[in-house]
Amino acid sequence: MSDVRFYYGDELPLEMHKARIVQRLELKPVEDRARAMAGAGYNTFLLNNSDVFLDMLTDSGTNAMSDEQLAAMMRADDAYAGSETFVRLESVLRRIFGKEYFLPAHQGRACESILSQVLVEPGSVVPMNYHFTTSKAHIVLNGGTIEELLIDEGWDVESEHPFKGNMDTGKLEALVQRVGADRIPFVRLEAGTNLIGGQPFSLENLREVGTLCRRHGIMIVLDASLLGDNLYLIKRRESACADWSIEEIMRAVAEECDVIYFSARKLGAARGGGMCLDDADLYLKMRELIPLYEGFLTYGGMSVREMEALAVGLEETLDEDAISQGPEFTAHMVEQLRKRGIPVVVPAGGLGCHVDALRFLDHVPQEEYPAGALATAFFIASGVRGMERGTMSEQREEDGSETLAHMELLRLALPRRVFTVSQVGYVVDRLQWLYENRELIGGLRFVEEPDILRFFFGKLEPMTDWPARLVARFREDFGDTL
Ligand SMILES: *Cc1c(COP(=O)(O)O)cnc(C)c1O
Repeated sequence: MSDVRFYYGDELPLEMHKARIVQRLELKPVEDRARAMAGAGYNTFLLNNSDVFLDMLTDSGTNAMSDEQLAAMMRADDAYAGSETFVRLESVLRRIFGKEYFLPAHQGRACESILSQVLVEPGSVVPMNYHFTTSKAHIVLNGGTIEELLIDEGWDVESEHPFKGNMDTGKLEALVQRVGADRIPFVRLEAGTNLIGGQPFSLENLREVGTLCRRHGIMIVLDASLLGDNLYLIKRRESACADWSIEEIMRAVAEECDVIYFSARKLGAARGGGMCLDDADLYLKMRELIPLYEGFLTYGGMSVREMEALAVGLEETLDEDAISQGPEFTAHMVEQLRKRGIPVVVPAGGLGCHVDALRFLDHVPQEEYPAGALATAFFIASGVRGMERGTMSEQREEDGSETLAHMELLRLALPRRVFTVSQVGYVVDRLQWLYENRELIGGLRFVEEPDILRFFFGKLEPMTDWPARLVARFREDFGDTL
């Protein structure tokens, strides 16, 4: 069973909005898709969106804005310093998070850069429920290391645990004993844990982590980029919170955290980022870096229009109907795939659907990037662009050997309020075809491999001519259909 709240018929999620502006889409023939994929070095990041039918690469900056957000953009105040827009955004943030200070930044990773520069030094150890690519990169860049202390169920793509983003407090206590609290600048908790399938933590778990951290005098830094999904899933899955408003859950989460940072490309359906906190000393230290890297203190690299949209979008995050859309569409898609026996991360999280490439392509060795190969094959089969989240998204060890990822996932993001149920149905149908023909899919190898964040720009090639065989099978089965 999914967490469906609004449904009809066969548990279809119900859109709590209507479309008033649309963008035309084109589905190109399978041969063109294969050619585009080859031209992009078999890396979906390098595709031109004009070759893409449904763009499920990411939810970053691609969520649909509301009419209220668009209307707010018109009143943005362009002043370089002291803009009224900043004051409006700051007051919304103060109200929903209850923190005194707000520092704006151009996006989420900029917050990570500033936090790491100020708090992390060589020898620092940062415990977290699970890493995110850019958050880990900035900690490592500043000489720190990370420790992933997810509960055991979180590592298991088949576990039905409702809160797979929870931190194991036993492991956290053991780590504090082993390295000492003074080497731990903060504990990082990520809401809607991205790389393990958008999995939430519970309020109960957060409070346990909070108690432990206060006892040792360690700060909690919350990555709130995917907090909207996490709040909704707390409301649906944590019985103690079933009767709370989203605003009450938001406050309870915020109270446990010392610093809250976010990518506004996700939270608040706009583009930008920021950090909220109460600690005046830390605020002053981080503030120095804002004009240096981001922009003046009243915009931090964001456009004032986006800031207006963000202020409204954050308010809308407190609306249960609005934040239901990501998790409910994801739940629907996961349920449909499960019914067809296609291996997928359960239970459904936020953000999108995560196909388990290790089981889908159990004949492709991890060194040949099964999740990357699946992303390639699925684009050819459907024109749908997903993202590899597996070994390709890791970095090699210093001796050049691969860091094999814990999971090999094809992420099909569902930007909120963008796709319809029938488009989700198309994705499910093509994935089923691909699953039935999975033996045709082979691995990939790098031909151009950057050292840092190689998944963004790296170019690959297929180990054999398997993409051509996939195209031929498609034509046999689908005839003239696109
Ligand atoms: C996207 C994301 C970030 C980085 O945010 P950007 O705005 O893309 O820089 C950090 N943490 C999480 C959990 C994210 O999903």
